[in-house]
Amino acid sequence: MNKALKNKKVLITAGPTREYIDPVRYISNDSSGKMGYALAEAATNMGARVTLISGPTNLERPKCSKFIPVINAREMYKAALAESKRADIIICAAAVADFRPKRISKRKIKKPEIRVELTKNPDILKSLGGRKRKNQLLVGFALETEDMVRNARKKMLDKGCDFIIANKHTNIGSNTGALVLLDQTGRKTPFKRQTKKNLASKILKSISMPNNSSKTA
Ligand code: C5P
Repeated sequence: MNKALKNKKVLITAGPTREYIDPVRYISNDSSGKMGYALAEAATNMGARVTLISGPTNLERPKCSKFIPVINAREMYKAALAESKRADIIICAAAVADFRPKRISKRKIKKPEIRVELTKNPDILKSLGGRKRKNQLLVGFALETEDMVRNARKKMLDKGCDFIIANKHTNIGSNTGALVLLDQTGRKTPFKRQTKKNLASKILKSISMPNNSSKTA
């Protein structure tokens, strides 16, 4: 087995976050967590010590050293910032809810009363980009419905990550995906549709050994 990540500490965020409005209702994003979990498993198989911070999913816990379950974006943010200090590679694959209700009602809100005021959640990837150490690799995902590569590149620069993986919404929930990996030098590596398991190990190889990656994978 390829042990290219031996002795590396890898931190991964995965899944959606859930922002409760009242005890039974919440705002969330459509995300199965499959890509993040596949990355955690692949990094473990490549010899890394993996910490996986995950929002609520229906998946089994993958092979990893540490699993931190969270519900909402602020919990994920706190855990990610604390864990990031020790990480050599950070991959933000979570579909973090951009907004949360300003107030969480303790009682189930009666239907005619429902009115939700929203406030912005912290941007975990951008915060990690601002704190990034020189020898730390930071990787983000960008889910785009149009102008995929251009928007993803803009996101990579704005959030200060080394790589961004451009992703189409048609990948959501599927066991397969087609992606484009972008880096700071302008290089673009497309990955044709294949299982997320295969994509995960190819992505990890490309980001940890960027000079060896082929043009199309
Ligand atoms: O801005 P957008 O949500 O499209 O950015 C996607 C990337 O940023 C993903 O890597 C996602 O995990 C990360 N992100 C985050 N915290 C947020 C929003 C997005 O870490 N609040």
